[in-house]
Amino acid sequence: MRAMVLNRPGAALEWTELADRQPGPGEIRVAVAACGVCRTDLHVLDGELPDPKLPIIPGHEIVGRIDAIGAGVEGLRLGERVGIPWLGRTCGVCPYCISNRENLCDRPLFTGYTRDGGFATATVADARFAFPLGEVGSDVALAPLLCAGLIGWRSLMIAGDGKSLGLYGFGAEAHIVAQVARWQGRSVFAFTRPGDLGTQAFARRLGATWAGGSDEMPPEPLDAAIIYATVGDLVPLALRAVRKGGRVVCAGIHMSDIPGFPYRLLWEERQLVSVANLTRQDGIDFLRLAPEIGIVTETTRYPLDQANQALADLRAGRFDGAAVLVP
Ligand SMILES: [Zn+2]
Ligand SMILES: [Zn+2]
Repeated sequence: MRAMVLNRPGAALEWTELADRQPGPGEIRVAVAACGVCRTDLHVLDGELPDPKLPIIPGHEIVGRIDAIGAGVEGLRLGERVGIPWLGRTCGVCPYCISNRENLCDRPLFTGYTRDGGFATATVADARFAFPLGEVGSDVALAPLLCAGLIGWRSLMIAGDGKSLGLYGFGAEAHIVAQVARWQGRSVFAFTRPGDLGTQAFARRLGATWAGGSDEMPPEPLDAAIIYATVGDLVPLALRAVRKGGRVVCAGIHMSDIPGFPYRLLWEERQLVSVANLTRQDGIDFLRLAPEIGIVTETTRYPLDQANQALADLRAGRFDGAAVLVP
């Protein structure tokens, strides 16, 4: 197998030939057909997340077909198309696992961070955390659903059922969440980097009622806002944009420091919360609904060995929607 490998934080990924791996008990091997590129991959590359496995193969939005099955795996078959998400394994016994909050597991493994991921021609995964994807939709179109879609879905649930929803940072996640929110009958207000008129137009095409710079106030107070950008300065801005009792959700795994702000921005029962990871139930719920909603992902394809270029383009905001690597 071949992979784009991160040997140490801060380095470029290296195109590497590796011995083929065999699935152990409870595992499957998947021939990767497409793997999305996520903002979290940049945090792994930049050493912003503690204790990565090194060397590591990044990538946690994997679509592929099972080509080997380990002992004891049930309910999956050779040739079946599956998705492998960020949540790679949980312990099953900690207080979080046994209270339907496995997203907060004390001893988890995360795909592309603490176990090898999908920037490769093949990957080995814990079968219990793979999602059967069926045959509807192309591999490339489905890949962004595996993280941007799933985390986006969880962040939308946590934002509550308010009718007017602000989305700060209109990238891979927001472009999916906007479609879900519109389908639910909500109004979407999109906030981009100031002056990024192209992305604002993209947001309007996806049904946003309003789109503007993150330094602007929306035309009306919002019921809730979700922050996908990794910029702590957005937190006080989003609190300012939500109404009394409104909620601001931070959806990223890492964010620059949040600056001090006047207490009155939080007062009047505004809430500031974060979202971490996903549960398998989130995946089941979202992937069942996705075809019904008719989500159309905007993707830019890169050959697998061009992963460094895809990551650089993501960092610079050079494409709308999501980048997807294809072996
Ligand atoms: Zn991700
Ligand atoms: Zn656990």
